Amino acid sequence: MSQVSSNEKKQIPIKDGLFTTPLSPLAQVRLMGSKCENCSEVSLGKRQACGNCGGANLEEAPLSRKGKLWTYTVIRHRPPGDYKGPDPFVPFGLGLVELPEGIRVLSPIQCELGKIKVGMELEMEVFPLYTDENQNEVMAFRFRPV
Ligand SMILES: [Zn+2]
Repeated sequence: MSQVSSNEKKQIPIKDGLFTTPLSPLAQVRLMGSKCENCSEVSLGKRQACGNCGGANLEEAPLSRKGKLWTYTVIRHRPPGDYKGPDPFVPFGLGLVELPEGIRVLSPIQCELGKIKVGMELEMEVFPLYTDENQNEVMAFRFRPV
């Protein structure tokens, strides 16, 4: 008897609570945020406590897919540690993207390096960053020009 194998790759978020679910269609997935009912602070991902006031009453607040580049830097050397990007390393923009909800999200910027500009309009995209040991596609996000 042969084992049934499935070619269907499961897509899983790089971090629990980072995205709205389901993860399909990808064009409709949004970053999940948490909004504090006490101080109205919005933060990235599902949280148990507010990073601003420590309050525990947080509601889920899906974030906009579009934002503006607030500032950025170019990563020219492979980051130390468990870097999961392309191998060999490819330099990339890393920016703070300001969303209409008032938060700035740290994100890779998928754009030709010479064309990245502060203030540019960006849109979030969810993409497979790597395949884990269980053959799951691990999904991460980045922003690219609209
Ligand atoms: Zn708070």
